[in-house]
Amino acid sequence: MTDKVASEHVVEGLGVSPGIGIGVAYVCESGSARIPEYRIRPAEVEAEQRRLREAVLRARRQLGRLRAKTRERVATRDWAADEVIYLLDAYMMMLKDSRLLRGAYARIAAERVNAEAAVQAEVVAICDGFRTMQDAYLSARVEDIREVGNRLIAQLTREPGKPLFSIPHGSVIVAEELTPAETAQLDPDHVVGIAAQMGGPQGHTAILARALGVPTVLGAAGLLDSVRSGDPILIDGDHGQIVVHPTPMAVQEYRRRRGERQDEERALRQLAGKPAVTRDGVPISLQANVELPMEMEHVVEAGAAGIGLLRTEFMFMNRPMPPTEDEQYGALRTLIERAGGYCITVRTLDLGGDKGAVPFVGQFGDSATSPLGIRGIRLSLARAELLETQFRAILRAGAHGPVRILLPMVTAVAEVRAARDVLARAARRLYRRGVDLPTTLPPLGTMIEVPGAALTADALALVSDFFAIGSNDLTMYTLAIDRSDERVAHLYNPLHPGVLRMIQFAAAAALRARIPVCVCGEIAGEPRFTPLLLGLGFRELSMTASSIARVKRRILGLDLLAAQRRTQLIMDETDPLRIQVLLDDFNAAVS
Ligand code: PEP
Ligand code: MG
Repeated sequence: MTDKVASEHVVEGLGVSPGIGIGVAYVCESGSARIPEYRIRPAEVEAEQRRLREAVLRARRQLGRLRAKTRERVATRDWAADEVIYLLDAYMMMLKDSRLLRGAYARIAAERVNAEAAVQAEVVAICDGFRTMQDAYLSARVEDIREVGNRLIAQLTREPGKPLFSIPHGSVIVAEELTPAETAQLDPDHVVGIAAQMGGPQGHTAILARALGVPTVLGAAGLLDSVRSGDPILIDGDHGQIVVHPTPMAVQEYRRRRGERQDEERALRQLAGKPAVTRDGVPISLQANVELPMEMEHVVEAGAAGIGLLRTEFMFMNRPMPPTEDEQYGALRTLIERAGGYCITVRTLDLGGDKGAVPFVGQFGDSATSPLGIRGIRLSLARAELLETQFRAILRAGAHGPVRILLPMVTAVAEVRAARDVLARAARRLYRRGVDLPTTLPPLGTMIEVPGAALTADALALVSDFFAIGSNDLTMYTLAIDRSDERVAHLYNPLHPGVLRMIQFAAAAALRARIPVCVCGEIAGEPRFTPLLLGLGFRELSMTASSIARVKRRILGLDLLAAQRRTQLIMDETDPLRIQVLLDDFNAAVS
């Protein structure tokens, strides 16, 4: 290793999960996944070739994003980036038309093997051929072909590069990109930090990192050029910095800051048992968002008044088949029993978008991963047997404590009606099986997270028992900004008047229809937004458990009448910058 690499080096990115992590880099190579191999039937050849085509498209898109990021580095006179662009272009060419692709398609048909095995066999065949030629140029190409093959296999398997759950204690994960499914496999007792080249603060990788309490920096251009496995590394999730080979002085300074943070956390824990009430006596229900069962411990510790959003999709990830009714029932029952009588809002499967697809919904191809494709309720209604199984599990679990059911990505009244029909069918089937059910079915609510739903909230309120405002997606779809794309992260702004007006309209529709309404997007967990949300009429907020104490502290110091007056001023304003100033001034004046 050169001196240059061994001296302290700072890489800038987006701090998406707060805190300081000090540890040793564990670089996750892309594509070192185990390669599944199986035979396919003649009738499956076409579908398998289609699967490969879709993986090629995804790999090209991923390379395209990498290339665009690298171009930004050329603009900052990082000349090494030129070399990388040259390589990426070569990979892109190979993913358009090459012997590798032609050979893999042919093997699927001729040898009747799965796409992963076909790609792997073709890589081996080409590389063996090149090696015997003893040409320096061609042997360098061997590495390129392997890289492209690995990328394709990674896209096909959608598995993490290595089993992340078995990494050494004290590791900082360093990757090009960490998917939500991979993040869900991390053991927070072993991982002290995450750093990746791609990803934005509102994507699900960031949300999970916050839920796990792991300091994280995403969108860090050039990261993989400066870190090797085993390097000492420091993650500053508050300021979006990654320090590779930190000096002893830097480590000391960061340890001091980490200590200060821990002191503050300890002080905040004292608030856990206190009710969240504004200075003028209005109680606010602070609930928790939960993705993984292991979070339940923090939910109880934080004194959450229930689970306002259970993202069930994480039960469906990292497995070849969906969980059975009994498995889902068992998992939900455990959560309900730990919730101590508080209500749990179970959201039905919301796969797709940046959460990615799972193998058993493969027939929808790219549409299952597109933010505009078959995601959320669309997928559930297209695969009604999955939805019905999930409903049956929820209904059975509901016998052990209060539950509500929440539908994601709704855009139309007809979707809520169709889901209600499936729910009734699930109840009838359980009844016929002799399962004892409560006389009334659990409340069925709608997520308001698409502009079309927000603007027809009055109609949706007539068919829904409650609303949950998903400000993450609502901001993404209203402003046309991919929430997981680090390059547009600076444009993502829930304080845009377009977003605020939709939230206001939906809240007013719920209040008029006298149905409960909650905010469960990330803004609910940021104390900066608390006066505005309360001023808009919300009395229920759901957030990652670690945010509850900070939001509660804000509520305890807040005069609701003053917040309402300030909200009126904000809602009359059309300039996003003025809105920010109005909100920040209000917060500064009372804090
Ligand atoms: C949202 O979109 O605001 C939301 C809570 O759902 P998710 O983040 O899971 O898409
Ligand atoms: Mg959403």
